[in-house]
Amino acid sequence: MKKAKWYVDHQATHIHIARDGKGGFIWYVLRKDNPGGWKKVLNKTLQAYIDACNGKKAPMIKTYADLANVCQGYHHLVVAAKRVPGCDMNKAKLDCPTCKGFKLYGICSHVVAINTILGKADVDDALAELSKPRKQRGGGFRSGVRPALMKEKEAESDSSPPPESDSSDDEPLSKRVKVREALTGPKTKGLKGLQLP
Ligand SMILES: [Zn+2]
Repeated sequence: MKKAKWYVDHQATHIHIARDGKGGFIWYVLRKDNPGGWKKVLNKTLQAYIDACNGKKAPMIKTYADLANVCQGYHHLVVAAKRVPGCDMNKAKLDCPTCKGFKLYGICSHVVAINTILGKADVDDALAELSKPRKQRGGGFRSGVRPALMKEKEAESDSSPPPESDSSDDEPLSKRVKVREALTGPKTKGLKGLQLP
């Protein structure tokens, strides 16, 4: 998220928007940590990157290192042709096809940065939200919400308090049954105390 903000703050030097010739746009991002040590988008390096993407070798590429610098120097983002993972920070539904982060997590700093520039996301808001104390953000266990990994038997009675831990799973079965009895014991007593009809 901080990296996305860095790209937003450095869009003048690190982001280049081009038309794709089909009515859409391509957003080129010069990577913050590009191996060539380039400080801003240059026609020469960007064109070499585009050529490399199209399987052509630009004249500036003399060595393998040149090629690596070019290929690892930029990312290009497009409006996704396929479905991309839904994300509040990617309402523009962008794809970052050459990016390992996007492939792994379905979101990356480049996508967040361009969404912010397009007004579809707000990286400042998100950062403020993330830096709030944890309690205010909610999350964790909420009463009434069933943890996804809860076993069916435990989930059957919604009103019973959740077991203190799952460590009983590691106990032998006989002991586990006892644990369960111990857990259900007080509850039935409690019901009697209410003297339901
Ligand atoms: Zn990316």
